Amino acid sequence: MPKKKILLKLSGEFLCSADSAIDIKRVFALAREVAVIRCQYQLGLVIGGGNIFRGRQMSKQKIVNPAAWHFVGMESTVVNALALKAAFDQLKTPAMVISAFDKHKVNPQKYFSQGVIVIFAAGTGRPFVTTDSGAVERALEIKADILLKGTKVDGVYSADPKKNPRAKKIARLSAEEYLKIKNASIFDQAAAILAAEKKLPIYIFKWGKDSLKKAIALKAQGTLIT
Ligand code: UDP
Repeated sequence: MPKKKILLKLSGEFLCSADSAIDIKRVFALAREVAVIRCQYQLGLVIGGGNIFRGRQMSKQKIVNPAAWHFVGMESTVVNALALKAAFDQLKTPAMVISAFDKHKVNPQKYFSQGVIVIFAAGTGRPFVTTDSGAVERALEIKADILLKGTKVDGVYSADPKKNPRAKKIARLSAEEYLKIKNASIFDQAAAILAAEKKLPIYIFKWGKDSLKKAIALKAQGTLIT
């Protein structure tokens, strides 16, 4: 039986600390979490760039060419992907980076079957969207069984829990229901629409030590968007 194919999306924020946009200890910790389960699954990784630059940071600025700044964001994801690749190399874990900027498109499929961890960088390669969109597109391209998104929050809530004390965590919901939640931002709405159209399941969970194994079993007390 082929191994389950999993695409894990993590924000670049998981790589930084108070002192450094790229904290090597954090990079290694993340790489180790992924490396230990490598043999059981076919694994892909999408890393964001939020520890360095996000397009939405420029919203209050007078910017003449916003697309250019989104490219800064995309390049940030490439920097993170290279840092992770360096850590995997040191851990003697086979990994490769595939960037959306590559002119000659690499077919990632064969690397999965060879047990290589494929790190997807540069999101979609297009400005004005986020790496959540890149993650959905890549998940569809590689025919992933599920897209996992590790976040700082433990799942989808019925309302913003910081503003509404009655907000409840939802264990499972449809993409249509997710899109109806006002200002839901834990998963990019544009990306959620595409995932819904293509029936790609998404599991959102709180990233932390040993959380990945639980998330793969859908037992991380997160939210499943189907
Ligand atoms: N970005 C983009 N197109 C993409 C992916 C990312 O323009 O397909 C830009 C966008 O400005 C985004 C930034 O790169 O804010 C960093 O990505 P993201 O915000 O998704 O990083 P994360 O929050 O996951 O760390």
